[in-house]
Amino acid sequence: MRVLVVGAGIIGAALADRLTRPASGAPARLTVVEGEGPGAGTSGTSYAWINANDPADPAYHRFRTAAMSTWRDLAAGFGDPAWYRPSGNIMWATADETKERLADRVARLSGLGYAADLITSDRLHELEPHVAVPPDALVAHYPDEAYVHGGPAARALARRAREHGADVVTGHRAVRLNTDGDRVTGIRLDDGRDLDADLTVCAAGRHSPALLATAGVPLPMVDPSEPGSAAPCLVATTSPAQGVLNGLVHAPGLSARPAEAGGLVLEADDLDAGIDESASPALIRQVGGELLARARALIPALAANISDVRRCVRPLPTDGYPLIGFQRPGLYTAVTHSGITLAPHLAALIAQELAGRPSPALAPYRPNRPPPHPRP
Ligand SMILES: Cc1cc2nc3c(=O)[nH]c(=O)nc-3n(C[C@H](O)[C@H](O)[C@H](O)COP(=O)(O)OP(=O)(O)OC[C@H]3O[C@@H](n4cnc5c(N)ncnc54)[C@H](O)[C@@H]3O)c2cc1C
Repeated sequence: MRVLVVGAGIIGAALADRLTRPASGAPARLTVVEGEGPGAGTSGTSYAWINANDPADPAYHRFRTAAMSTWRDLAAGFGDPAWYRPSGNIMWATADETKERLADRVARLSGLGYAADLITSDRLHELEPHVAVPPDALVAHYPDEAYVHGGPAARALARRAREHGADVVTGHRAVRLNTDGDRVTGIRLDDGRDLDADLTVCAAGRHSPALLATAGVPLPMVDPSEPGSAAPCLVATTSPAQGVLNGLVHAPGLSARPAEAGGLVLEADDLDAGIDESASPALIRQVGGELLARARALIPALAANISDVRRCVRPLPTDGYPLIGFQRPGLYTAVTHSGITLAPHLAALIAQELAGRPSPALAPYRPNRPPPHPRP
C-alpha cells in the first residue's frame, strides 16, 4: 500500500515514525510531504504541555493518560532525549473561588487515579526555589506531567522515519487533493507534480480545512479569521535564563516552562483574548512586555528579556476533541488540539487502523460525528 502523509508537525511525524517501525506492518511505501520543514508549524511554537489535567470528561481523560504513557515509552526508545522533559507541573490559586476549584480538580483527578497532590510551600520551594508564591496560595503538584520541545521532537521523529525508509519531501506544499469520483487518489504539489497514493493522510494541522476543501471535504474547526476566535494566540520566549525554572509552572495569569535554548516559554490565556489575525506588531510587542512583567513577578531573579513573541494559531476542532478517521475512500484525517499530548498515542492507534483493525478508542473522535459538541 502506498501511504502519503501531508504535514510533518508532531502528528504527521509521529505517524510516519510509527508506520515505519519494523513491527507495524509497514506500508510498502510511505511518503511524507511537508511544506516547510518538520516541526515548522504549530508544533514548533506550542507550549507543549503533556497532560491529562482535566477530569471533566473521564473517557477523554483516560485517553490522554494513555497518551502520557505512550510518550514515556517513545522517549525511552530515544534514550532520554533533550526534547522530552518529564518535569512535573506545579499549579496554584490564590483567590477563594479558584482555590476551591483547584482543590476540587485535585480531588477529582486523584479519584481517577491520576498523580495529583496538594503540596506545602516548603515542598514547592524544593521543586522551584526561584518562584515567588504568595503565602496563602493553594499549590497543586502533578508529578507525571511533562513537556516537549515540539520542533526538535518532530524533527527527530521525521528523521527516524526517513532512516526506516520513509521518503520525506520538504519545502513543497500540497495544493490540492486529487480525486477520482469519491476516492482521493493523492495530491498535487506546488510544482505541479502529482503524487499518487492508495491512502492520503491529512495531518496539515491548522491548514487542514483548506486542503480538505479542495476535494469538498468539510472539517469542523474554529475559523481563526472570525472575530473573537479562540484559535489565534501569542507565545513569548525569553533570552537565556538558565536555572530559574525546573519545570512547568501554572500561576494565576501566567504559564511558564523552560525553553529549548535556555530561556523560558511564556503564555497567558487572558492576553490572547485581544489577539486575532490582524493584531498589529505594536500590540504583539505590548503583550510580550506584559508577559515579561508577569514572569518577573513570578521569578524575581529573572534577568532575561523577551527574545521572540510569536502569533500562533491553535488547530482547534469546534468541540475541542480530536478529528481522526476516514473521511472518503483513500482519505484519512488526523487533526487535533492538544496534538502534542496526543500525537504518539494517536499515531499508534491510527497505524492499527491503517493496518485494517479499527480502533474502538478512536470511535468517539470521528470527523463526521454529529454536532453540537460541547467544548471540554
Ligand atoms: C500557543 C499554543 C499552545 C499550545 N499548548 C499545547 C499544550 O500545552 N499541550 C498540547 O498537547 N497541545 C498544545 N497546543 C496544541 C498543539 O501544539 C497542536 O495541537 C499540535 O502542535 C498540532 O500538530 P500538527 O502536527 O497537527 O500541526 P503542525 O505542527 O502545524 O503541523 C502541520 C504541518 O503541516 C504542514 N502543512 C500544512 N499544510 C500543508 C500542505 N498543504 N502541504 C504540505 N505541508 C503542509 C505545515 O508546514 C506543518 O509543518 C498548543 C498550541 C498553541 C498554538
